Amino acid sequence: MFSYRIGNGFDVHRLEAGLPLWLGGILVPHTHGLVAHSDGDVLLHSLSDALLGAVALGDIGAHFPDNDPVFKGVDSKVLLARCCELVKEKGYVVDNVDCTVLAERPKLRQYIDQMRGVIAKVMAIDIDQVSIKATTTERLGFTGREEGIAVYSTALLKKF
Ligand code: MG
Repeated sequence: MFSYRIGNGFDVHRLEAGLPLWLGGILVPHTHGLVAHSDGDVLLHSLSDALLGAVALGDIGAHFPDNDPVFKGVDSKVLLARCCELVKEKGYVVDNVDCTVLAERPKLRQYIDQMRGVIAKVMAIDIDQVSIKATTTERLGFTGREEGIAVYSTALLKKF
């Protein structure tokens, strides 16, 4: 029987001067990077949580504990790929994903298509199934003060 599943994800990481900024699976040139046990790719974490949410398999913190040395500095693309395997094991395929990045700086527009391409490749889906949008928060709140970056994600899965 045909069925749909939808999931949402949300993640925040703190910005710190002098760290590499991994976002959407690519290295984005910036003065600051995201602090984390992994590579800090807040976009891929949010998206991974949306996938896990859609199949009701908990969250990435449960699957990849941030106190486990195995995941120290881990490439978040590896975590995203694992989440896609879990989706597949449940018999679902990804219909589409949509992410909204909240960041005052850097301006992300010029990097978005590259991120979409990388994510589509990791997830083994078409680039047209991957949407990434970026917005500022009009200098309001922790994202507006450039203390961190937040990402909301939605994933729609289907099973035939
Ligand atoms: Mg995270």
